[in-house]
Amino acid sequence: MGKSGRAAVMTAAKTDLEIREYPLPEVEPGCMLVRISCCTICGSDLHTWTGRRQSPVPIILGHEIVGHIVELGRGVTMDSGNNPLKVGDRITWTIMDNCGKCYFCREKGLMMKCSHLKKYGHDSCAAPPHFVGGFAEYCYLTPGTCVIRVPDALTDEEVAPANCALATVVAGWDMIEVKPFENVLIQGAGALGVYAAALASHYGCRRIIVADVMDHRLEVVKRFGATDTINAKGLSDDEVIGRVRDLTGGFGADVAMELAGFPPLLPLGLKCLRTGGRMIEIGNAFAGAMFQCDASDIVFRCLTIRGLHNYDTVHLQKAVDFLQAARERFPFHEIVGERVTLDKINDGLRIAESGRTIRVAVKP
Ligand SMILES: [Zn+2]
Ligand SMILES: [Zn+2]
Repeated sequence: MGKSGRAAVMTAAKTDLEIREYPLPEVEPGCMLVRISCCTICGSDLHTWTGRRQSPVPIILGHEIVGHIVELGRGVTMDSGNNPLKVGDRITWTIMDNCGKCYFCREKGLMMKCSHLKKYGHDSCAAPPHFVGGFAEYCYLTPGTCVIRVPDALTDEEVAPANCALATVVAGWDMIEVKPFENVLIQGAGALGVYAAALASHYGCRRIIVADVMDHRLEVVKRFGATDTINAKGLSDDEVIGRVRDLTGGFGADVAMELAGFPPLLPLGLKCLRTGGRMIEIGNAFAGAMFQCDASDIVFRCLTIRGLHNYDTVHLQKAVDFLQAARERFPFHEIVGERVTLDKINDGLRIAESGRTIRVAVKP
């Protein structure tokens, strides 16, 4: 008998995860086995757990993962930045494994829409190698994963959310081409919103306006570069639009980023834009997120709307580089507010769902 490892497995939505033991896989050429040291709970893990989003079961959720290499498969010698890899190195990796050869990977530059896509924390764990998610002691990485050796200066908790929340914001930032001195409206002060504010500050934006409905989150985002915050709870749409216009010389924001996952925020964001403004929609990553909007407003005011789901491999390296470059300026260590062990995973999910901290870390 080989060795085995533990994992927190979800067998049905809206029920507690259970701890199971699976045999460790044989490490095949091009693959690697990692001992997980930290995995943070992402909003999309909660979407699956609460049944808002469909996933196969049984499943090991969790995809914001950091760990140490236990075994390298034949042929694996370097990370994606050509840094040599050895057993014991601390790494993070892309949320997805993509083939690099299909229409979307090769022709269209959309690795996250690969025809043969696999995503950590999103696929069934019923069959070997079993360890394909983050709420576990181990994770098995397959060859199409972009692996990055984590710089020593970054702690596990600082770097864990990079491979989902931060890399996604970086991808959105690239897509909507935010420029210095622009005024940015950020809708949502969760992890995505906090990272977006820090990026906006780092890139020299003028007004960095963050809207949310929880005061404690708006307090945190001020330490990440937000110049103005709006608690939208109890405010009408017109009042929010008025506040944004007041802060932007009467014109409205150059860019709006929807990062909260609440469908009515998309039309509200559009109304907060100046003529010629750009909006990026990232948060509403679940089916049935309907909204109402007057299409003539998009025409008459020459608006741009972009959508983004996940990110390409390049954005994870940029995310880690950004953390390293900006860690003296922004308190990234405050993003994880509570920690649980694998045995207390259900407590961790409930804390994450309450929204009382931006991220909960699971440390197996
Ligand atoms: Zn592909
Ligand atoms: Zn995520």
